[in-house]
Amino acid sequence: MPLDLATLRPDTRQFLARRAQGEGLLIDGQWVASASGQTFATTDPATGTELGRIAAAGASDVDAAVGAARAAQAGWAATVPVERSRILWKIADLIEANIDELAELETLDQGKPLFVGRWAEIPGAVNQFRFFAGQAMTIEGNTIESSINYQPAGKQMRSWTTREAVGVVAAIVPWNSPLVLTAMKLAPALAAGCTLVLKPAEDTSLSALRLAELMMEAGLPAGVLNVVTGLGGETGAALASHKDVDKIAFTGSTATGRAVLDAAKTNFKRVTLELGGKSPSIIMPDADLAQAIPGVANAIYFNSGQVCIAGSRLYVHRSVHDEVVEGVAQYAKGLKLGHGLQADTQMGPVVSLRHAERVEGFLERARSQGATMLAGGERTGEAGTFITPTLVVDVKPDMEIVREEVFGPVLVAQAFDDVEEVIAAANDSEYGLAASVWTEGLSNAHRMSSAIKAGTVWINCHAMYDPALAIGGVKQSGWGRDSGKQAMDNYLEWKTVCAVV
Ligand code: NAD
Repeated sequence: MPLDLATLRPDTRQFLARRAQGEGLLIDGQWVASASGQTFATTDPATGTELGRIAAAGASDVDAAVGAARAAQAGWAATVPVERSRILWKIADLIEANIDELAELETLDQGKPLFVGRWAEIPGAVNQFRFFAGQAMTIEGNTIESSINYQPAGKQMRSWTTREAVGVVAAIVPWNSPLVLTAMKLAPALAAGCTLVLKPAEDTSLSALRLAELMMEAGLPAGVLNVVTGLGGETGAALASHKDVDKIAFTGSTATGRAVLDAAKTNFKRVTLELGGKSPSIIMPDADLAQAIPGVANAIYFNSGQVCIAGSRLYVHRSVHDEVVEGVAQYAKGLKLGHGLQADTQMGPVVSLRHAERVEGFLERARSQGATMLAGGERTGEAGTFITPTLVVDVKPDMEIVREEVFGPVLVAQAFDDVEEVIAAANDSEYGLAASVWTEGLSNAHRMSSAIKAGTVWINCHAMYDPALAIGGVKQSGWGRDSGKQAMDNYLEWKTVCAVV
């Protein structure tokens, strides 16, 4: 059944009326249509209902946005840190004040259950702005005792370093957790004194546009944040290759990350890449199964598995394998699928028809290679893009379903016999984003957290998120870190000053 837009919150309807009509580019503080006037539809994935039209920015719009960001950059970097901090804190307050509207927009556009945005992701975005409001006032260099053997009479050698904003940043973000992933780029960049051109994902532009309105309301000067909506291969590619962009902060798939890296060569832009993952969840024989079973299930089925750090490979010690697999299968079968706006929905659709078909393709190929689906494994529902929570067994380590990121509610389970074997299996991946180990044993917790090659290892939990904790990957999961004070390094250059005084 199509979604009745009249049932939405009044503020959501007002936002859709004023912003999702194709005048959705923010350039130099003004909301404008694209130069070509072209737009594309954004839809509710649970029903297929069109929510509005999004402006499709072309190369000339991208050029204008980069120009505005360049013109504003020196002035923004020259504001005293406490002023940048004040505005960032105000942005956090405004997100919080509008959280119900933002959560509804996120559910409509992306499909996630309302509680995911309302209680997990959007509070996460608020915390990003508050954390980096603090970081804005911690930027510092060093003084260096010089060994240079050059001392003109009566003079001294002095050396020091300062940190300066990188400049104009292109932030390119994906559709799975739009608002919080956008905040993870914008907050540290603004704290450091950079200006930005943001390119939201084409499937989920709405919350970024509402966030941009709130950021202007918070007092961000014109040109400091610019937003260009549009398709990846056009708007995104024009931005990534633009010669007046100093840095690309990218989150998305490993394949697109490669294209972005290529485009960055035009002027040797700085690049940070938060890419894909195929993260292992490992259940040791001494794990507390009452915690571990729902824990590993939630690690994959939360947000329909559309989470970069999702625990999509499950390794279970053979002594508890059957009990765990049975428990996860029951958990999967018990999840209530539905429209994200329904209060009892535990899992929503995947983001788009294109993505649902991609996930189905993985499942079909796994079946044809001999895998068994202990739960789920199919499209469901009369409308929308729902995939049943899936548990796959009878797999071999070299199968596609074990190696490739599906980015859907699909968990692949395998048994192991000893700790060395499971460490090797966990590390047998092109990716290295995250992992979780479920054990009551201190020695295994330490040993495995050190031996597993991943940017983050959780013990007895998965996907715990804190703006103070850096997140990012090794191997083909990317370069650099978002969150934490480490994220400030993405947006600051070192300058060395050496003086005879
Ligand atoms: P995607 O790579 O298809 O798109 C990401 C963004 O890049 C979108 O805004 C898209 O429009 C843009 N884009 C596409 N082609 C481009 C091009 N040629 N030049 C410039 N920009 C281009 O990714 P997605 O499908 O939107 O997101 C899912 C992926 O994101 C998954 O692989 C997931 O693991 C990853 N992800 C990683 C993290 C992390 O922190 N490591 C977080 C969330 C998502």
